[in-house]
Parts: sequence; structure tokens; C-alpha cells
Amino acid sequence: MAAVAPGIIVPLSSGGQSKLQYQSEFSSAAPCGAAGACSRKQSVLLTRSVPRLLVKANAAALCASSLVKEDSEVVPEHSVSVILLAGGVGKRMGADMPKQYLPLLGQPIALYSFYTFANMPEVKEVVVVCDPSFKHLFEEASKNIKIVVKFALPGRERQDSVFSGLQAISDDSKLACIHDSARPLVLGHDIQRVLRDAWVHGAAVLGVRVKATIKEAGSDHFVKKTLNRQNLWEMQTPQAIEPSLLRQGFGLVERDGLEVTDDVSIVEFLKRPVFITEGSYSNLKVTTPDDMLVAERILQSAN
Ligand code: C5P
Repeated sequence: MAAVAPGIIVPLSSGGQSKLQYQSEFSSAAPCGAAGACSRKQSVLLTRSVPRLLVKANAAALCASSLVKEDSEVVPEHSVSVILLAGGVGKRMGADMPKQYLPLLGQPIALYSFYTFANMPEVKEVVVVCDPSFKHLFEEASKNIKIVVKFALPGRERQDSVFSGLQAISDDSKLACIHDSARPLVLGHDIQRVLRDAWVHGAAVLGVRVKATIKEAGSDHFVKKTLNRQNLWEMQTPQAIEPSLLRQGFGLVERDGLEVTDDVSIVEFLKRPVFITEGSYSNLKVTTPDDMLVAERILQSAN
């Protein structure tokens, strides 16, 4: 299949905002990859968010390379609750506000993924976990957006914020999709693939293969062993999990005082399978000023 443009920036179709939204569906990297489905829903998303002519050409190309999955493997519309984590303080950025609110090409970082999720047919609601002093940003952004937007208070640690967001999701949600708002460039089609994998397996996480050579060392700095890169993955977000599994996992974490490194590790504690959906290296987490520059370049080159 011919490669298509790596991404485009388009004005939001819904909401009438002049802000830019990073649109991912045209990414050249394996749009219907091994773990993903080029579903009817994907076409719906394309149709809603990008100019029609481009949609026609590219949606056809996207779908040509893989079979349309069984209905049972299609995530139903309005079945997913997004927990958008925006409650951190992001000290490593050295800025006077939390990193997720810094302007990236004129738009607060957290609003990029907020808009991406808000335009997905699978999503029924977004629970924004944020300090009340930043609520107005999302309230403003959610004007004219059709999905429900809720708010939850952040906790001390990231995991406490996830727990707080989980309390706010609707009872009939089929999947909780947890995303770090500090990852503004997440691609729409990667989100759809991880949702689909979570729908099939109960829990799935976006990840990319580790490029670096990783060695394990002792506290004395001497190498103990070199890990096999073939089996190493760097975890990203979203991490999508059946809400009942997540609740059960939090119960276990609480009972046994377990240390949680990421959301799916809660599922691992339950000895339940977690699928890794191969994502994109561009889904970086903005942590230091250097990351801001890289994110700007990616957005600019996608335009
Ligand atoms: O600090 P770190 O980069 O790991 O944070 C990842 C995401 O989790 C960020 O989007 C941050 O705003 C969020 N977070 C949170 N509540 C915390 C800590 C982090 O919502 N207590």
C-alpha cells in the first residue's frame, strides 16, 4: 500500500474552534497493522474529522490491506470512558505552570488529546482529572462538543488520579481508556487499535519497541546483564482496561500495598493478560523543554 502523508493539522470540524488538532489517521506506519482492525468505525472517524476528498482516497487505502473484523471485535460506539490525566505538576519542565498546560503551537498541550478523543465515535465521555483552577480550559474547549465532559480531582500520585477518575465514569462503560494529557500527539488510529485490542483481550496498552541497548546494572554500576531488546517494549498511553478489571485490580493493590508503575500493571497483578498494541514513536510524553521542541517539529512537519 502506498504511504500517505504522516499526519495533517486541520481546524476542528466540531466546536468551531480555531485551534488546531493533530490528525493522525493518515499516518504512513501500518495503518491497519497486525494488532489493529481497519473497522467501519475507523472510516466514521475519518469522515468526521478530515476533509472529504482526502478521506475518500485514504480510507480506501487504509481498508484495502486488511479484512474488516467480525462485529464482535468492533468496539461499540459511545462505549468508552476516557480518563484524561491532567493533574500533575510536571516539575522537570521547570516552567511556572504544569507542563500539560504549556502552549504547543499556541494551544495548551492537554487540549490536543482532549480534542482527539472528543471526536472519536467510540468515546462516550471524557473525565478530565485536573486541578479546579484549570477546569475552565476544558469547559471552554467542550462548548459544542457532543460527548459528555466530567471532572475529577487529582490525587497525590498518578495512580491516585486514575482512581479518582475511575469513580466518575459511567456505570455502563465498557472500557476505561486512561491517557496522559502530556502525550498530545497520540494518533487517532493508534487509539482505535488499542481500544479494539482491549475490547478483545480485556486490557491493552500502546507500546513501542525499545530502540536502545538496555543493560541491567548493580548499585555498584557494574553491568549484570544485557537484556534482549527483541522482547522489550516501552509503554505509552492510552492504556485501555475493562472497568471491572481495573476496580478489582485497585482492590488488590490496596489490600496488598502493591506498587503500581502503570495502569496495566494493576491487571498484571490479577494475573490477567495484557496485550501490547504497537504504537508510534511520535506519541511522545512531553517532560522536558527538549520534548517541546520535538513535538513542535512533528506538528509542523505534519502540516
Ligand atoms: O509525571 P508524569 O509525566 O508521569 O505524569 C503523567 C500524566 O499523569 C500527566 O499527564 C500528569 O498530568 C498526570 N498526573 C496526574 N496526577 C498526578 C500525577 C500525574 O494526573 N498526581
